[in-house]
Amino acid sequence: MRYDIAIIGSGPAGLAAAVNAKIRNKNIILFGSEDISQKLIKAPSIDNYLGISNISGLDLKNKFKNHIEDMGIKITQKRINNVYSMGEYFTLVSGNDTYESTTVILATGIEYGKMLKGEEEFLGKGVGYCATCDAMLYRNKKVAIIGYNNEAEEEANFLSEIASNVYYVPMYKLENKLNNNINIIDDRPVEIKGEKLVNKLVLKKSELDIEGIFIIKDSVSPKYMVPGLEVEGSHIKSDKNMSTNIEGLYVAGDCAGKPYQYLKSAGQGQTAVSSAISHLDKQKIKKSVLVDTY
Ligand code: FAD
Repeated sequence: MRYDIAIIGSGPAGLAAAVNAKIRNKNIILFGSEDISQKLIKAPSIDNYLGISNISGLDLKNKFKNHIEDMGIKITQKRINNVYSMGEYFTLVSGNDTYESTTVILATGIEYGKMLKGEEEFLGKGVGYCATCDAMLYRNKKVAIIGYNNEAEEEANFLSEIASNVYYVPMYKLENKLNNNINIIDDRPVEIKGEKLVNKLVLKKSELDIEGIFIIKDSVSPKYMVPGLEVEGSHIKSDKNMSTNIEGLYVAGDCAGKPYQYLKSAGQGQTAVSSAISHLDKQKIKKSVLVDTY
């Protein structure tokens, strides 16, 4: 099945995009988390969302969740690792699953933290962002996972069935759904070291000899997710219609740039959908002209 619009991210930008696309009767798929967005849940009090004053992030999240549920919108709880432009459509990859969509909206938010020392240097040389995609490369090897959210626990469990040793460094309050054979490391990562390939994770109090490391964050830098995507620093380059340099690919929310705000993100989600729909309409006209010609 090929979707009209695939939306990656379930924060205010992605949800606003989904609601507006649904109103326009488009066939959509929305990827993200059932928790909606950690940046929403963690806000103690929000006063700048028009029409709703003095609300906690948790309560606003529940309002958003009720809204999409009332409209029959489901969140597909998958992490998209790569998006490839195939010309007339896109292929989205999540672990071993692939999805096709004519247009894509990136609403993945942004990671505030800096990259770890050595992370960029060894990316693809032992550093990865998707354990379920690359696990087979680490059969009987020693691997570390730095997990920034509880979704990383599932990745660690999968990896522990293949690798000889899995070290798990939680960067959040661990809920611990980890398999018994996983070593939990209560320490803070400092640097990834290696020669041609990764061979060490240096932490504040200890060091681990490893052959691979996965860093599972809330969002991955978009330039690693979409080959050929133009970025400016950590933001995706876009115009006022939220179009990127890749035809059919749009962006909304924090990943499009500052200010980092809910209402701005939601507004951009709406704009991105309008642009995606214009693109879908043009594609339809192009196809009907071709059919008439032949
Ligand atoms: P996010 O809310 O970050 O959502 C992105 C979602 O996409 C996440 O759920 C993430 O898991 C998911 N995702 C990412 N990558 C993938 C992938 N590859 N596949 C599937 N899903 C993916 N703003 C205000 O306007 N007012 C405030 O009072 C305010 N208070 C704040 C308080 C705190 C503590 C914080 C951290 C932020 C606050 N902000 C506030 C800023 C606001 O949270 C952000 O601007 C807003 O959440 C951005 O929305 P977004 O949809 O772009 O991204």
